[in-house]
Amino acid sequence: MKAGIEQRRLDTTRPVAVWTSLDLLAGRPAKSLTVILRTVGCRWNRCIMCSYASEGAPASAEELVVQFHEAMKRLSSETNVVKIYTSGSFLDSMEVPPEARQKILDDLHSRGIKKLVIESRPEYITPELVAECLSGLDTEFAIGLETANDLIREKIIKKGFTFDDFARASKIVHGLGGLVKAYLLLKPPMLSEGAAIRDAISSAQAAGKHADMLSLNLCNIQRGTLVERLWERERYRPPWLWSALEVLKIAPHPIICDPVGAGTRRGPHNCGECDDAIAKAIRSHDLAQDPSIFDDLDCRCKAAWQKVVELEEQSFGTPLM
Ligand SMILES: [Zn+2]
Repeated sequence: MKAGIEQRRLDTTRPVAVWTSLDLLAGRPAKSLTVILRTVGCRWNRCIMCSYASEGAPASAEELVVQFHEAMKRLSSETNVVKIYTSGSFLDSMEVPPEARQKILDDLHSRGIKKLVIESRPEYITPELVAECLSGLDTEFAIGLETANDLIREKIIKKGFTFDDFARASKIVHGLGGLVKAYLLLKPPMLSEGAAIRDAISSAQAAGKHADMLSLNLCNIQRGTLVERLWERERYRPPWLWSALEVLKIAPHPIICDPVGAGTRRGPHNCGECDDAIAKAIRSHDLAQDPSIFDDLDCRCKAAWQKVVELEEQSFGTPLM
């Protein structure tokens, strides 16, 4: 049984995952297809919350194209948005060889896809590669900025690039007519709940000046990461969903948030009773972009969360619950 799982994990002819969902396209809901290609994985591979590398396996250019075609079987005639993710950087030629990248872009162009979303670290966002994407497709370049604070990004998250690197990449994309999405991380370790909320809000305000779309990622506990080790020693708790609402209410829009793992111990959570309702409201907000959707949410755990935010200020960031 274990051997079977292992073999599937390393299968370089099938994508890691493929799913359909609804996305905003020019302010309206549109059908989208998300594909995660199995590549060798992120070349950086040092961020303390990320276990992407464990999904990686060295896939050749031909195998990546096979994976892509396999995923495209899920495409319906109404799909307008395609997201091609790699657990790394689509524009890193060591990860996605140029011939695979070109075949994928040509194929999407010929299918009449309205918008492509890819992810990349800023160092691979060059005018040549941006132009290559944009020559056939409206493309959104998603960058994992995480926070606008260089100290937190560099010293805690170990991301290995600066806000200026992000801004430079964004300028290249905008100069050529593309779109930029910035991912922000709610609650890197070492930050109290309140400090994490403030960091996410100020990051959204700073990143919003360089991005067309913000995406708030709620930190969850991935296996084999430093964040997992801190969590096991009770030195880290994933963010409260109340904290996510606080950020989504104040941050500049458009901002989206997929509360992955909401309500679980490893994911963002409240008391267990209100988690489903709040996660549902967060997902509705993605399409509605109206924070008043959160106004009626309440639970008796909200007072406990407020107390945590208040008291952790005095406990030097040690999580209280
Ligand atoms: Zn609750």
